[in-house]
Amino acid sequence: MIHQVYALHFGDKNGTRGEFMYRDASHDPLTISFYIWVVLGGREPIVLDAGFDAVQAAGRNVVNYTDRAELLGRVGLAPDDVKTVVVSHLHWDHWAGYSLFRNASFIMQQAELDFWKVRGSRASLITQSANMAALKAVADLEGTGRIRKLDGRRIELWPGLHIVPLPGHTPGLQALLIETERGPVMLASDALHFLENYTQRSPVQGTMNFPEALDAYDTIAALVGDDVVGGHDPADAARFPHIAPDVYRIA
Ligand SMILES: [Zn+2]
Repeated sequence: MIHQVYALHFGDKNGTRGEFMYRDASHDPLTISFYIWVVLGGREPIVLDAGFDAVQAAGRNVVNYTDRAELLGRVGLAPDDVKTVVVSHLHWDHWAGYSLFRNASFIMQQAELDFWKVRGSRASLITQSANMAALKAVADLEGTGRIRKLDGRRIELWPGLHIVPLPGHTPGLQALLIETERGPVMLASDALHFLENYTQRSPVQGTMNFPEALDAYDTIAALVGDDVVGGHDPADAARFPHIAPDVYRIA
């Protein structure tokens, strides 16, 4: 199946290069952008990552926040239309806003769940990247059958749409490999924050396992070459055509 892929840009945060780039002492400004992604043209719409809500945004000094339901509307979807959300990993900015998707099941890696249950909860160094209430909610969602857990193997959701584990940034990070008009495209989420992480083979600070993160880049290179989209790159605004405000057509 040939899919259409969209980035919905719902906020930004202004920081410095030194906060993100490994062993980079620069205080030069660096903006990180926040996205959820939508894949259309398959058996059902797929959303990659849940994002976060306006209250969570305010608590983390996010600027240019745009309501995700409004952005979904710009690609013809309402939140309740979404039956499947693929969760790349459980960092706050990818998971805390799960409750927007009332009718959805959430696909995540068992390794990611296991990590946050024990090792990931040991130190504020790690938990500061999570929303603890949203992490705890995973158990409730499991109880109502809304969590689908994967075991670290690549799976095909349907022809032309694969979920590819890319651990490193976190132990259970997963990406989407998508057949499109121009060939395979990967939505890699935080396997790379910025395209620069990938081209320089330099993962961001806060990466849980650097050797695995570097392996992930080799996997991406083998599957899609440079046709990869990272988790937070503000340059995507110029890289892809806009079909509506803050909605970019990736493929
Ligand atoms: Zn992350």
